[in-house]
Amino acid sequence: MKYSVLGALSLVLTCHFGAPAQAVKSNKPATNKAATSKKASAAAASPAAQSAPVAPLVVPSWLPPSNPVQPSATILTDVLDTKLDVRFDWAKQQLLGTALLTLRPHFYTQNQVVLDAKGFDIKNVRLVTGNKDKTLTYGYDKRKLTINLDRQYTRSETYLIRISYVAKPNELPANGSAAITSDKGLYFVNPLGTEKNKPKQIWTQGETEANSCWFPTIDKPNQRMTQEIAMTVEAQYKTLSNGLLISSKKNSDGTRTDVWKQSLPAAPYLTMMAVGNFAVVSDSWRGKTVDYYVDPQYQSTAKAVFGNTPEMMEFYSQKLGVDFPWEKYSQIAVHDFVSGAMENTTAVTFEQSIVQRSARDIQDMTYDAESTITHELFHHWFGDYVTSESWANLPLNESFADYSEFLWAEHKYGADAAALVQQKSLGQYLDEARSKREPLVRYQYASQEDMFDRHSYNKGGRVLHMLRKHVGDEAFFASLNRYLTQHKYTSVELSELRTAFEDVTGEDLMWFFDQWFLQRGHPELRVTHSYAGGQIALRVQQLQDSTFSPIYRLPITITTWANNQATDHRIVVTKANQTFHLPASQRPALVKFDSGGNY
Ligand SMILES: [Zn+2]
Repeated sequence: MKYSVLGALSLVLTCHFGAPAQAVKSNKPATNKAATSKKASAAAASPAAQSAPVAPLVVPSWLPPSNPVQPSATILTDVLDTKLDVRFDWAKQQLLGTALLTLRPHFYTQNQVVLDAKGFDIKNVRLVTGNKDKTLTYGYDKRKLTINLDRQYTRSETYLIRISYVAKPNELPANGSAAITSDKGLYFVNPLGTEKNKPKQIWTQGETEANSCWFPTIDKPNQRMTQEIAMTVEAQYKTLSNGLLISSKKNSDGTRTDVWKQSLPAAPYLTMMAVGNFAVVSDSWRGKTVDYYVDPQYQSTAKAVFGNTPEMMEFYSQKLGVDFPWEKYSQIAVHDFVSGAMENTTAVTFEQSIVQRSARDIQDMTYDAESTITHELFHHWFGDYVTSESWANLPLNESFADYSEFLWAEHKYGADAAALVQQKSLGQYLDEARSKREPLVRYQYASQEDMFDRHSYNKGGRVLHMLRKHVGDEAFFASLNRYLTQHKYTSVELSELRTAFEDVTGEDLMWFFDQWFLQRGHPELRVTHSYAGGQIALRVQQLQDSTFSPIYRLPITITTWANNQATDHRIVVTKANQTFHLPASQRPALVKFDSGGNY
């Protein structure tokens, strides 16, 4: 998922207006209460403090209110495979569907299965058996479909359930986030053809849990399934979904049925469909289909926008030591998209204005379009191949995708281009940090949509860069290879990334992961130096609020220059106020802090 321009703008506004509102919130964080009582009792125990006024604890405006704990979804049943047969009612903006789900108890024996199915009319629910389908009883509250099985099933038994339904996405209440502005799952663009200059299209958007607005599933990121989708559409339209087009058949009523099959398992939020009048521009990478779906008038410029995709696939395959694993790679431009772009496995959706450029526009194109293209592609390793098990762990998807924007710029356009990505992205996090400071991986939030912020993306990307600089390039990519290889086609949490780095480097990295991923805030340093008696005294003060954010451990390289000779000094900052004495035979011409560019 990548922010649209509109999403970025709303975040900037939040920064300006968020801080004062935060200060008057009555819902005080739990940490605040604990800290206050601790300070109060310390003051009471000290006779000197009894007479002195006790300064009230100042709660920074960026400290969010306490939120409920959000654990990963408990897995009772695994969705192994989903087969859908769908057609569309453009006028009513509805989907008429049949879903055939292959299910299996995860560990414990089950006599029920609870599916997410939002806003459907359920026609019937049947158990598919060898000879004859068996009708099953169910309860349905318009969000959860609770199906009573005909008996107990153990974890060694798979079973098939067929559900006929009508999905009515427009009858759902609307929600959304800065990165994803709506969550009804299935969208009809210009369904009646009444808007001039806008094509009729259908597309879907699953993340976070909106695909269950158009097919029944267990709509959690720690599920993983293969899939096959038969889409019946009017013959003039093209279709796109995940995986390969395995058949396309004309029907006697003038419609056509396309069947798309993805044989490699992915999380349900990565399932997608699109229907419309697209031009398809073909490309390839190592014999796999790479193609670009655009409005016909952008057919001639599609390669100028998307054309580096095969080179990116090669670059990441080699860098990670894991070849692009999926069956094909399609990218599609759609109208009125609810985000910038979305990493649906093998079928990435883009808001059309980002990637549909006229020949004239291409002359002025900045890195924005390509950074989005590379972001979504990198998700095919971090997000799709290995998937964060819960929204709390979203930085395991988004920090990597964000950092790919740096990696591709560095590889393709050089160090200065990468430094610009770094600088802009850091600035976007720091802007947001004025009104909000959260741990990157956060187990408490009000809504999962809150995770799609400048922390999960921009700060996360910078943290990965620090990790790379700390362990070195070879260890960084070897660790990523280990992480991807060990956890392929599974869902993960933060500790699994840390363990991969520890296994490769041999270093206990709890300190790094704790301060950067699990605690809020960032260091604010004051660095001064003086020279006397053959020594440079380098004083480093950590000025950040240490009640609500940590005192950081910061390995840093200092370079001093004297007589046109550079000398490197490696120090580790660990305290709020620390002075380091560096040997120097004469007064240095320059003392450069963080000369290694780690931070
Ligand atoms: Zn993303």
